[in-house]
Amino acid sequence: MKTNLLGQTLSELQILCAEEGFPRFAAKQICDWLYKKRVDSIDAMTNLSKLQRARLNKMAYIGREAPVRCQVSKDGTKKYLFPVLDGHFIEAVFIPDDDRATLCVSCQVGCKMGCRFCVTGQQGFHGNLAAGDILNQMFGIPEFERLTNVVFMGMGEPMDNLDAILAATQVMTADWGLSWSPKRITVSSVGIIPGLKRFLDESQCHLAISLHNPVAQERLAVMPVQKAFPLNEVLALLRKYDWSGQRRLSFEYTMFRGMNDDLAHAQRLVEILKGLDCRVNLIRFHESSEAPYKTSTPTAIAAFQSYLNRNGVICTLRASRGQDIDAACGLLAGKE
Ligand code: SF4
Repeated sequence: MKTNLLGQTLSELQILCAEEGFPRFAAKQICDWLYKKRVDSIDAMTNLSKLQRARLNKMAYIGREAPVRCQVSKDGTKKYLFPVLDGHFIEAVFIPDDDRATLCVSCQVGCKMGCRFCVTGQQGFHGNLAAGDILNQMFGIPEFERLTNVVFMGMGEPMDNLDAILAATQVMTADWGLSWSPKRITVSSVGIIPGLKRFLDESQCHLAISLHNPVAQERLAVMPVQKAFPLNEVLALLRKYDWSGQRRLSFEYTMFRGMNDDLAHAQRLVEILKGLDCRVNLIRFHESSEAPYKTSTPTAIAAFQSYLNRNGVICTLRASRGQDIDAACGLLAGKE
């Protein structure tokens, strides 16, 4: 089987070059073509000899795939559909916002976590994306040059496909790659503890934990992961790390009417986050035919946010984007 060069790290390319009998510096040259010049064919790597290019073509390719569909929201958000793994599709969402332009990428086809309110979660799991599939979502869109941030909040649970996430973020942040600061990248998780620990030790990217309910039994009812990795154990792990520097910790909290949006929940949330350097992002739930939940009223959301802010937890309300094209949080399904 041929190797996808897109997503290969410098050290992986050094091994590949050694195996092919190329000089060691060829790996750096290949990185430059892949990540600085972003070519989509091996033949375009003109500082490799003809013989080297022919050998590379025999055993490798550059997995650049254009999106097969782009839906544009009235607010400017764009949802791109990419083909991956045997007939499946994944989605990436481009979100322009003044001087920022964020791309929300997927890391799996479907998801194993089964969060009850999430359309992706209801579709089951169909496979992991490779680092190249993740990077292709950035490289494959015409807005690549405008991107200021990437968030891993699309389809899938990043800690369940961590090798690919770490390789992709390494390509994005390394000087032989895109040279982005890790501050431009946020990886989200429902809280798979072994993956989180490794991520925190090996990456400097920001972390966002999907919290959604501070009461264990209630969280379990909507997020099955709570059984294997209870929130209190996730928080105990997070408390072992320093969040006062460059790296940011945030908690995602989707507001469900009558379920987690009253002051008792706000109070409990303040209690469990006490002393942790973090912020809470409230998200309006986007109702869909697949999930039986309702979105909170604007009054309930405002009261919740104000309680947190008054009690020492920085709390923002995430603007809703791309709802008319099913690009909002929890609505990605890779439908084709
Ligand atoms: Fe998976 Fe995230 Fe959906 Fe939960 S919310 S099922 S982790 S994609």
